[in-house]
Parts: sequence; C-alpha cells; structure tokens
Amino acid sequence: MLKHDASDEAFDNAQQCMPGGVNSPARACRSVGSDPIFIERGDGAEVHDIDGNAYCDLVLAFGPMILGHGHPSVIQAVTTQAATGFSYGAPTVAETDLASAVMQMVPSIEKLRLVNSGTEATMSALRAARGYTGRPGIIKFAGCYHGHADCLLVKAGSGALTLGTPDSAGVTTGTTQDTFVAQHNDLPSVEAILTAQPDKIAAIIVEPVAGNMGVVPPSPGFLEGLRALSTKHGIVLIFDEVMSGFRVHPGGAQELYGVRPDMTCLGKIVGGGLPVGVYGGRADIMASVAPEGPVYQAGTNSGNPLSVAAGLATLAELQAENGAVYCKLEGLGIQLQTGLEEALRATGTKGQVQRVGSMLTLFFTETAVENVDHVTPTAVAKFSSFWRAMRKRGVMLPPSQYEAWFLSAAHTPELVDRVIGAARESMLEL
Ligand code: PMP
Repeated sequence: MLKHDASDEAFDNAQQCMPGGVNSPARACRSVGSDPIFIERGDGAEVHDIDGNAYCDLVLAFGPMILGHGHPSVIQAVTTQAATGFSYGAPTVAETDLASAVMQMVPSIEKLRLVNSGTEATMSALRAARGYTGRPGIIKFAGCYHGHADCLLVKAGSGALTLGTPDSAGVTTGTTQDTFVAQHNDLPSVEAILTAQPDKIAAIIVEPVAGNMGVVPPSPGFLEGLRALSTKHGIVLIFDEVMSGFRVHPGGAQELYGVRPDMTCLGKIVGGGLPVGVYGGRADIMASVAPEGPVYQAGTNSGNPLSVAAGLATLAELQAENGAVYCKLEGLGIQLQTGLEEALRATGTKGQVQRVGSMLTLFFTETAVENVDHVTPTAVAKFSSFWRAMRKRGVMLPPSQYEAWFLSAAHTPELVDRVIGAARESMLEL
C-alpha cells in the first residue's frame, strides 16, 4: 500500500488557502480520481513526495525539466545570479544572451520579447498580430491549449465553422467573438472559416505538435497547408511551441518539419524550470511592439535575472556536443514507445502510442488520434485507472489522458525499462 498520510494532511491544509488546494487545476489530479501528490524534492529523473515515496517522473513539471531535476550547471547559474541580485527593473546583458541563443536555435525568430509564462507569450503574440494586420479574428484548433487568456479559452464546437463560445465562466462572449475554432489536422475546416470571414483573420495559432489533447503529430501537409493559406490571405501564422520548443528538436517542431511560421511562442524549457515565456518572429511584426510600435506589452518580471540564468544554462546544455542530448532522448523515446506497444500486445490491451521525440502519449483508443474528437470516454476512463496503477508502482504520469508524457536527459534505459514493466502490470489491472 502506498503511504500518503502526509500528502493528505497537506492537501487538507492547502484547501483552506487555495481553490481546490492547488495553484493550477491539473495538479489536483481529479481527472484520475486522486488527490494531489505533494512533492518534497526532485532529483534527476525522480521526484520524492512528502510521504517518502519516490517516483520515476514523466511529468517533468509538464515539460520544462528536460535536463532532469537539479542539473548542476543550472543550479550553479541560478545561485551565482542570486548572489548578485534577483531583479533590477533595468536591462541586463544576460537577457540579450538568452535572446541570441533562442534566435540561433530557432532561426525564424528575428526579434523577440521575454515574458513570464506561455499564457503571456500567446496573448502577446496575438495582440501583436492583430496590431500588425489591423484585423480582429483569430483561428485556433479544437483541443489545442494556448494558456488561459480570455480570447483563447474557447471550446471546440461541433462544426468547423463554430463561433467561439467561452470555455470558462467569467469569459464574456465579447472577448471570444473573434475566435474561430477549426478542426485539428483538417485544412478544409480552416478554408471554410477563411471563406466565411474574408479579410477578418489576423492570425492562425496552432500547436505544431499538439500536446494538450495528448500527443498528436501534424498530419502530412497540415502545417505546410497552414503556411500556404496564411501567406495567401496575409495572415500571421503563429506556432505555439511552448511545449514542443527545444523538446522535439533543438529548433522546435518548425525545424523538425521544415515549416517557417511568422511568429513563435515559447515557454517551459526556455526557463529551465523557472518562469519564462518568449514571443517573437518576423522583425517587421515585432516592430509593432512598444516602445518601437503601437502594440503595448510590458512586465515587471520580464527578463528576470534568475529565470534568464536558468534558461541560458539549460539551452547551453542542450546545445553541448552538437545537441547529443537529443540523440539520447530519441533513443529513450523509441525504447519507451516500443516497450509500451509490446506491453499492449502482450496484455491484449487496445491502445496507441503517439510520440514525437521525447514527448509521448499512450491513448487507450482503438485507432490513431488525429484530433481531440478521437479521444473516447472509454480511453479517458481507462487512463484514470492506469494512472493510479502506475502511481502504486512508483511512476508519476501526467494526470490526464489529454497530456503528454516527457523524458529527460536524466532518464536512463534502466528507468525506462522499469516504466515499461510497471505499465505491463498496470495494463493487467485495467
Ligand atoms: N501553450 C502551450 C502549447 C502549452 O502547453 C501551455 C501550458 N501547458 C501554454 C501555452 C500556457 O503556458 P503557461 O502554463 O506557462 O501559461
């Protein structure tokens, strides 16, 4: 039996202070029928909870910890910076260093702004795109998540032409009336919106490798088609690479698939576990941003020295030895995928492993998932049991069928084998 008395008590206390006892809803673990797990510390590929249980960590803070927890060079960078100041409200050279490193790794970014989260990045990119084009409309895809800005909290409707209806209480129809929802991996659904809204669309925003409906790679021609449509209609194509950036390739999904967006949003890895977001892209679009242009965007903590230090150290490690870490991550990803597929076969469990590099989802569906509608209620229910069975066996998975699992440079083939063994046993419990 897994001991969780301390986590239970911590949860009782937390519920007195925070809605649902958490500072971000996914952590509540409700969708997998669990209470939150309170973490004491992370160490490489493992996290330890406050009851003394150790887990192989495939959450990795929902993506940022690509080097694992407590990487020595990141600790060194942050502590060195901390000794000389936490924040100044004036520029530092390190901000330009981080911007240059990002621009070198993601060549479509000609200019950028550092912000504090993925939400800020997408919100600001859309404002810049709207300011630049002078148009109001945006197209997003059902099942893609771009943070919690009002205009992006729009659920997929039933049809491709569905007008935005707010996904959250407190979001007004006024703020979502210019949001149009298309079906992921479905170009005709985008074309239909463009026909119905001529010259109204400022931006198309997409997760080029979707991670927020579980991992869904782009269908052949999908990203290229979005590129062509955007160019044809004078629309700003925004790749939200908050999750896929520095993850699926040093230059993100855009370099992996060879499709150049006009703007890119980054987050997670670029802060090495501290809060950083980035939006950037074509220099002419970024010239719209204040103080160069009329689009206002600002932040007390933007370019925070501690976050920048962590980000710089992380990107330096990722670039070391010609990006050797990505070969390791690909090897671990293949091992996990093939091992899970073998476990599915051996246990007679229906499922699909969808993977791009070191991000992967095991869907308990009968067929491949190309959009969010393909994820069935049965799959969601099965994942919930699977998550609890895996936790019992010391594996921490992201707490939803709609999330990506991540691997880090601190994972080893032995640990991945342990995950596969736990998965095989857990499948037998479903
Ligand atoms: N875009 C994508 C693709 C994301 O995965 C996320 C967060 N999971 C966000 C934006 C929002 O980022 P944040 O949580 O840092 O605001």
